[in-house]
Parts: sequence; structure tokens; C-alpha cells
Amino acid sequence: MDSRHLEAIFDECLPEAPSSGGEILREIREKLLPNCVHTGHGGYLGLITSSPLPIGVIGDLIASAINQNLGTYSIGPGAVSIERRTIRWLCDLVGYGPKSGGNLTSGGMLANLIGLKLARDHASGQQAQEKGPSGEWGVYTSEERHVSVDKAADVVGLGRSSVRNVETDDEFRIRLDSLERSIESDLRSGVRPACIVAMAGSTNTGAIDDLAALRTLADRHGMWLHADAAYGGGLLVSHAWSHLLNGLERADSVTVDPHKWFYAPVDVGAVLVRDEAALCRSFGLRPPYLTDDSDSSEDRYQYYVHGLEQSRRFRALKVWMSFKRYGADQIGRWVDANVGHARRIHEIAESSPRFTSAVKPPMSAACIRYLPERELSQEQLDALHYQAFQRIEQGGEFWIGTTRLKGRTWFRACAVNYRTTDGHIRRLMELLESECREIELTLSR
Ligand SMILES: *Cc1c(COP(=O)(O)O)cnc(C)c1O
Repeated sequence: MDSRHLEAIFDECLPEAPSSGGEILREIREKLLPNCVHTGHGGYLGLITSSPLPIGVIGDLIASAINQNLGTYSIGPGAVSIERRTIRWLCDLVGYGPKSGGNLTSGGMLANLIGLKLARDHASGQQAQEKGPSGEWGVYTSEERHVSVDKAADVVGLGRSSVRNVETDDEFRIRLDSLERSIESDLRSGVRPACIVAMAGSTNTGAIDDLAALRTLADRHGMWLHADAAYGGGLLVSHAWSHLLNGLERADSVTVDPHKWFYAPVDVGAVLVRDEAALCRSFGLRPPYLTDDSDSSEDRYQYYVHGLEQSRRFRALKVWMSFKRYGADQIGRWVDANVGHARRIHEIAESSPRFTSAVKPPMSAACIRYLPERELSQEQLDALHYQAFQRIEQGGEFWIGTTRLKGRTWFRACAVNYRTTDGHIRRLMELLESECREIELTLSR
């Protein structure tokens, strides 16, 4: 449905007169609910937004009702403790030691921004906070990075052109030979290496870079290593696959989004830091209107000196409640089931003459492409994929995405969904094949 039609549904002037709660709820039922993508439905296999756990929904409701503001200890002491405990659990999952810390953010975008800011401050010898960055810097990351890295490089003043778009191998992991060449070439021309952003679960295919090799390279050149596990962090509770993230604990900072693969409702991301003191070095200003006497004793944890944001929602509650209600054990079983769904899509595609799969999925994202029976041009084939995507969306049974990989268009199905079953996957593949075949008939000459 196009957005103009929807804007017309909600087109009205600012209400001057009150309405009853019942009337407002009726409008929500009639106008809003039919125009939502139902991310809680087992057929939602789209952009990485989870089927929200009911306990998380309740957590959000309670968080709003008690309205604790975590920016400052004095107006949310218990809530600060719960966020600290939640961060502790996430740090433990990563394998960080007792000196680690972090904070919850609106999502991976903000967590990566904080990671890049810590990296910049480190690379400048803690000068950039005062003087701004000077000279030219290199940020090394793969062509499969999330766009938040480019935005972060811009915001922290290194500029988008500091981001080196390093090519990936057949499994979409950063190529170490290309990376080394890029660093060497920068060093020769006076560009200073600032940091490496490792993918620990790329958005498209769940690719995991060689974290140990990236640590070695970062150390050789005095660089910060930030690992983007916004999506992939879910694998930390996997019973079968958590070893794939070995080495994550050696990154200086890590992004993990509980609102992705820990099935929390949006929004809640996290930036975790191996040495928590880095947060204070980067953000530790204490304005007089926030400081109280007890601050001097250091026994109150003030998030405002450990992070970018001031007023902050009590995001930890839904994550804390979810881990208590289901345990890491059950959440890990859902994660493993989702990996199984992506593997199933891969297997069905590979055993069919009509599909090919980009790679055996290490996580829950599968990218597959239709192979037409007749000769089609590249443009026709791209159009076929977009049309099939639209038909699937309109059909209402499933939601999957499309993406570009190595210059081609692919379907991308990604389950971060505890309601998805093998039945959904079989049905999706049947539907995809029949839609693609039908569209092919309309396209071929
Ligand atoms: C989703 C994603 C992000 C951005 O996270 P948001 O929570 O959407 O802000 C960053 N990196 C990766 C790899 C992602 O998949």
C-alpha cells in the first residue's frame, strides 16, 4: 500500500476536543492494525525485527508506567541497577572480563556510532574529544558492513571517505589480503589507521569475519577493533553455534541488539566495551545540574558520564524480564531453530533447478535467487525478483526482503522469529517458485 493512501487515512487537524478511550481504540483497530506488518507472525521473515516476546511487551508497558529516567542515578536507582545487571549478562555472554561495561542504546546504529567514537578518541591519543579530529584516518571494514558504519564515520568527523570498502570472499567475509593491502597503501600516503569494524554476522548473509586475524592486524597498527554483532549477537546463546563467535571477546567494543535475535520488542541495542573506563574518557562530562553530593563518593553509577545520551528509557527491563522468564536456554533453542530455517531454505534452493543459494547460512539469513527457465536479461531478472517480492507482500502470508549481493538481486529471508516453523519454510518455497514461474511467463519473449 502506498504511503499517500495511508497518510490520507490519518489526515486530520490537531484535535481540540477530547475523544473517549473507546473511540481511540476503535480507530487503532480499524485504521492502524490493518496497516501493520505483523512481525509477530511466523511468516514474517524480513528485515531483522523480531517476533517480540510477550514478556518483553509487558516489560515495556511497566517501563513506561514507572517512567524511570536512566540518565541520572537519582531518578531511577533500581532501574540503573537492572540495566547494569543486564549489561553484565551481555558482557558475560561475549566473554568479557570484570572491567567491561556498556550501555543500552536505541539500536545498532547508535551502538556503532559510540563504538566509532571510542575508536576515534583512542586513535587520537584522547585528543579528538577536545580538539576534533585532525588529518586523514582510515576505517577498515568489509563491503558487507551495515550503513551505520558510514554514518558513524561521518558523525564522528572522520568522514565517509575514511571508510575503506574492503572486498569479501565467497562466504562474504572480509578478505584479509585486500585489507592488508588497503592498510599498507594508506600508510604510504600518510593516512593513519584508526580502526577495524569487524562483521560478526552481516545483515545480508550473517557472514562472520575472522575475528582473531582482525585482532592481530589491529594490534599491529595500534587500531581499535569494533565488532558489529547487532544481529549476530543472538548466536551467543545458541547451543550449537556459539563457537562461531569465538574471538568476539578480544574486540575493544561490541554492538549487540537484543531487539534483533534476543526477541525483544524495539527498541534496545547495546554497546559493550572491554574496558569500561573508555566510556568515561569519551563521554565523562559532569554538568553541575546533574551532579549531586553523593557523586563524589563514586558509589552511584551515573550513565550520563558513561554514555552519549541523557534522558533514556528503561530499556533494560524487557531484556532482563525475558532472560528471567525463558532463560538463555530456551532463547538459544529458538535461535538454533532459526538457523535451521535458513539452512532449510538453502537446501531446498540448492536441490531445485529453479533456485540457487548465495552461501550456506551460518546464521538465520538465507539469500536465494531464481534461475529462469528461459533466457532473461539482467534487468528482467531483477524486475522478476522485485515483482515476486511485491506479490508475496500483497498476499499477506509472508514478508521477505530483497537485496543486492555481488552485483545481483536476491531474495533474502531472515528468521528472528520464535513462531516460524518448518511448515512456513516449505510453504514459502512453494509459493516463491510458483510466483516466479508465473512472472517469468509474463516477461519472456
Ligand atoms: C540491524 C543492524 C544494524 C543497525 O541496528 P539498528 O538496531 O537497526 O539500529 C547494525 N549492524 C548490523 C550488522 C545490523 O544487522
